[in-house]
Amino acid sequence: FFRPLEKIAAVIETYPRGIAGFQRYLDLMAETPDIEDRPDAREAPALTGNIRFDDVHFTYDGARGVLHGVTLDVAAGETVALVGPSGAGKTTMMALVPRFYDPSAGEIRIDGIPLGEMTLDSLRRQVGLVSQDVFLFGGTLRENIAYGRLDATEDEILEAVRHAQLSELVETLSAGLDTVVGERGVMLSGGQRQRVAIARVFLRNPPILLLDEATSALDRTTEREVQAALARLSVGRTTLIIAHRLETVRHADRIVVMDGGRIVEIGSHDDLVARQQAYFSLLG
Ligand code: ATP
Repeated sequence: FFRPLEKIAAVIETYPRGIAGFQRYLDLMAETPDIEDRPDAREAPALTGNIRFDDVHFTYDGARGVLHGVTLDVAAGETVALVGPSGAGKTTMMALVPRFYDPSAGEIRIDGIPLGEMTLDSLRRQVGLVSQDVFLFGGTLRENIAYGRLDATEDEILEAVRHAQLSELVETLSAGLDTVVGERGVMLSGGQRQRVAIARVFLRNPPILLLDEATSALDRTTEREVQAALARLSVGRTTLIIAHRLETVRHADRIVVMDGGRIVEIGSHDDLVARQQAYFSLLG
């Protein structure tokens, strides 16, 4: 059983140039045979990342509706935090962006292009994902970072390492970037794995970023490092964040409050606090 974002994580991370993950990718795709390139699909151009949800409805099982007419226009480069109670549909909404599922009604467009008109490959290459469940394979740290872009130069890798706040870790490892990580090597902590995912996205440089903020507790220093790296990663990219922390929410350009598969409020932190409605009551 996979939650949708874990599935996307696996697909996005393994899809562009699968190494060890290719079989896993095939297995995952076999679970969703209905998502494939349409016959008329074309290679997407370089996207700026304006994402528009237009009256989007969704059901997983054909019976129970999970999204009930979601309409949202996210400007290129904007950071939007999705908040709301468990089961509100936040993860599902994000899962529709790389077309892990198709809406049952309504449409999603990026830069005005309906998702179904782009090839899955050209769409997913332009969507980066950082979630709590990072897929690392047994190889060196360098291989794990360069995963999505095997042609990256040493300088580019080092820059991604710096941006992802991994430099200190690399310095403490005796073999540096050539240290084998994973079960047969150095085990990385949750916060370190998350930063490897951040480094991957820096290297791949996609215009769209999907962030599922970790709920698991990281120590305060790690937490600050991860937050700083994420803040930097989102600059200049359209970013959708499932936000669990007030700090993150405050910094978003807009906050979208979801409940029961609907958007119930949209606004800045200050706007929504002043309204004293759904968002205000979530703050507790
Ligand atoms: P949380 O904050 O707990 O992650 P969420 O707001 O992200 O919640 P979703 O994960 O989008 O909510 O779930 C919305 C609804 O869809 C829930 O009722 C959930 O049980 C259901 N759901 C989620 N994933 C699946 C799936 N793969 N198959 C069937 N139902 C699912």
